[in-house]
Formats: sequence, structure tokens, C-alpha cells
Amino acid sequence: MRVRRGCGGPYPGQVPARLDVVVWSVPLRTRFRGLTSRDGVLVQGDAGWGECSPFWDYDDEAAVRWWRAAREAADEGWPDPVRTHVPVNVTVPAVEPEHAHRIVTASGGCRTAKVKVAEPGQDPHADEARLEAVRDALGPDGAIRVDANTAWDVETAVTRLAALDRAAGGLEYAEQPVAGVEDLARLRRRTHVPLAADESVRRSDDPLAVARLQAADVVVLKAQPLGGVRASLRLAEQMGLPVVVSSALETSVGLAAGLALAAALPELPYACGLATAQLLASDLVAEPLLPVDGAIDVRRPEPDPALLAAAAAPGPLVARWGARLDAVRARA
Ligand SMILES: [Mg+2]
Repeated sequence: MRVRRGCGGPYPGQVPARLDVVVWSVPLRTRFRGLTSRDGVLVQGDAGWGECSPFWDYDDEAAVRWWRAAREAADEGWPDPVRTHVPVNVTVPAVEPEHAHRIVTASGGCRTAKVKVAEPGQDPHADEARLEAVRDALGPDGAIRVDANTAWDVETAVTRLAALDRAAGGLEYAEQPVAGVEDLARLRRRTHVPLAADESVRRSDDPLAVARLQAADVVVLKAQPLGGVRASLRLAEQMGLPVVVSSALETSVGLAAGLALAAALPELPYACGLATAQLLASDLVAEPLLPVDGAIDVRRPEPDPALLAAAAAPGPLVARWGARLDAVRARA
């Protein structure tokens, strides 16, 4: 299914004549971030294909950055890599312990696991049980980080992180346990667990506050929400903190941008969150960007026409994306 000019409303005149926008939808293997499927558009330009797939809870203003990332991929390509492969973590959704164990074991040799915790409606003890299972699967040398997606206040975070640190046999870091950057800074003074900032970078008008307030030990950068590889590299340089590059649950077309960012960073001390192609039940490329021996080779796969056709979005979704792109491109 292709959305061309004139479909879903008139596009601005500066759009290159050969621009193709393909709307796709693929199911997830496991419910993640409250979603059971992922959808977005691919755009083709002189440099290749780019993915624009802002989650639907991003407004048009925020989605502009995702669009810029797609256009960078399609029109310019990315800076030269300084490494040939990128170590990655396996991501464990808020699943039962046995399932968590299986995910880590089947992760393609990942030595770092990122475990989702504080899922709304779940008993907190489920987090401890999941972490114990992950430690069992990884062995004593593996690294375990947790992501609470801003679920807690500072007091709750102090208590919960102590319990999760014990259950995990030591946490590498905790990603965004609390929402605001000020609270993150407060929490950092009250826990020995290192903290990573994600939402405080990705959804903030002032991402540099994380560095200014010494609110985190690590920053998580995602190429799409930050407006592309070059914009993310600039931000990393300004922040001066260790960077973990993570995906926004893209297909392998979008993941390639995150991989290019991780490959271009001067230093890369932690495993990156780019092994998320395995969370999709199907991908848009014949050879998805999956880890081997815990790392992903730096490359840029092209979409496969048959897989793209199989992932063609239904009509109402195509119309919804057409309207969204009109609004986003009017602001870009
Ligand atoms: Mg996160």
C-alpha cells in the first residue's frame, strides 16, 4: 500500500517527485508498552530508506523529529562508523519468570539484559521474580538493568530499587525510575544504583538539564525521537555523559539508524538497546538486525518487497498516517 501525493491530502510542494511513502503494520510477539502491533511509514530517497514510526501518543509537534530522522536516512545517509559491531542487550518485557528466562536464553548470546519493571496493574513481587529468573539465565557475569518508565515517585523508587538490586544480584543501572529531571537528580543522591535518563532526554524541551543537574550516570539516546543520527551525535557531545543507544521498537529499517548512531559514537561503554527486532513477529527486511554472540554487525538492510507487501497496512490506518504526515510535514 502506497500513500502518494494527493492521497490523504495535498503534500507541500518541496517533496521530491520520486518520494514514496509506504504505510506498514507488523504484530509484536509480546505485548510491549501496551501495544500488540507496531505501525509507521517508510520513505525512500536518494540515500536509501528511512523509517518514521512515532508512537500514537506523540503529538504532531514531537513527531516532526521522527520525520526528520526518516528524511536524514532517506536523503543523506549517516556519518561513517568507527566500529564494525555494536554490543546489545536483550529486552525482557513484563512477563512471567519462565518466559523471561526463555527470552534471555534465546537472545543470541546477549550478556546484558534490560528488564521492564513497574508494569501498571502488576504485583511488585513479579518484578523480583522476573529479575531472579533473568539472573539465573544470564549467570553471575551478565549485566542486568531495569526500566521503570517513570512509574515511581522518589520515595517509592528508593525502596523499590533496593529490593530490585538485591533480587538481580546487582543492577548495572536503572532507567528513568521517576519522571522529572529534578526528581531524577534527587533520587540519584539517595540510591547507590546508577541511573539512566531516557524520557528526560527524549521527551524534554531541555535535554541538557540531565547533565546540568547531574541527574543521571548514563543517557539513553534514540535516533528517531531526537531527530536523527547527526542530531543525536550533537546532543551526546553536548551532554558529555556515557551514551546507551536504544531503539524505539522500529523495524530493521529504522533500527539501522540507531545502529549507525551507536557505530559513530566516539565511545560506547555499555551494551545498546538495539536488539528489539526480535520483539516483532515479522520484519520488513529479509535479514533482520539481530544479535550474534551478543552484538549486531553494523550494516543497513534494504526492505524486502514481498515482506513490505505482506505488512501493508489496512485502509483506515493508511488514511490515518496520511493525515498525520500532512500535519507533521506542514510543521517540518
Ligand atoms: Mg526507557
